[in-house]
Amino acid sequence: MADKLVAGNWKMHGSLAANAALLGGLASAGELGVSCAVCVPYPYLAQARQCLEAASIVLGAQDVSEFAAGAYTGEVSGAMLAEFGCRYAIVGHSERRALFGEDDATVGRKAAAALAAELVPIVCVGETLAERDAGATLAVIRRQLDAVAAVLGGAALARVVLAYEPVWAIGTGRSATPVQVGEVHGAIRAWLGERCAQAAAVPILYGGSVKPDNAAELFAVKDVDGGLVGGASLVAEDFLAICRAA
Ligand code: PGA
Repeated sequence: MADKLVAGNWKMHGSLAANAALLGGLASAGELGVSCAVCVPYPYLAQARQCLEAASIVLGAQDVSEFAAGAYTGEVSGAMLAEFGCRYAIVGHSERRALFGEDDATVGRKAAAALAAELVPIVCVGETLAERDAGATLAVIRRQLDAVAAVLGGAALARVVLAYEPVWAIGTGRSATPVQVGEVHGAIRAWLGERCAQAAAVPILYGGSVKPDNAAELFAVKDVDGGLVGGASLVAEDFLAICRAA
């Protein structure tokens, strides 16, 4: 397995001034010994690209259109993101699913659109608290993953990053426990193994209240290949501490 990957998800936060300070802090960090990305709001891609030019931190977007081009007001295509230097695009984040009506099939089509533009989709899956309490966690994750595989096919799964993000752990300060994370990541690895010859090489990130004080413990869990970090990615020293824990 290659280096672990830590990706920051800024969500809808930032301003030119605040970003300059945050990106400056990241750019001056030096070698992190880990693959590192920041997924910034679209309007700030150019700023982030410029600030991180000399750094080893790469860029990502938080979404991508399922369409390649055309009369789709408000959409941003994978090719546009690639042109602005993105390597990654998050797809299927639970906030997109819950607040913007993205269903499993849409997430699959977005993952395909990212790959078609030579971006790496970071495909998010995860259960709600009600689903966990009902004992449905693994069934929900399998359903979400199956929808992606139905669009991509098994071989293309080798080109994606998966992120397990329990909805109840996102932005709540309550991360999943190492045992819970290990159970789901193991199930995702097994699911990959049934479909893809490179299953062992597909990064599976954990996301949901990853902080400097729990990152090392979470990243040490079997089948955890890094993290997707929301709130803590907005503070340079916290994000860097998480990267160094990977
Ligand atoms: P959080 O968000 O780290 O603030 O919990 C994670 C995410 O939504 O990707």
